[in-house]
Amino acid sequence: MANFYIQCTGTEMMNFRPHPSRSVHGAGGPRASRSKSNWRQRHTELVEAMSNARATKRAMAAGLPLPPPPPPSANPDYVQCPYCMRRFNETAAERHIPICKVKLHQSSSIRVRQNRILS
Ligand SMILES: [Zn+2]
Repeated sequence: MANFYIQCTGTEMMNFRPHPSRSVHGAGGPRASRSKSNWRQRHTELVEAMSNARATKRAMAAGLPLPPPPPPSANPDYVQCPYCMRRFNETAAERHIPICKVKLHQSSSIRVRQNRILS
């Protein structure tokens, strides 16, 4: 086990999964560290959005009050759709949210439809 770990960290694992402090000082400088933290933030947001969307769907199905939306983080200028948890600028959100609300009621294949609308 220990030998295996050492071998991996010594060779291809470095390329595959660079050490955090190494990527900051290495390759792209501040740009690299920014994209990394951005990835982390996006991942966290995605996880939170998914659990929140599930809770919202359950609450709507059960006729309960909706759970509070997650706090805005990345872009405070953007409006987050309470139904699909995506962010839009104000104009797009005004158009999107009513549509998204209807779609949520109409169909459970909402994910496919949204992809079509948004792309
Ligand atoms: Zn939406």
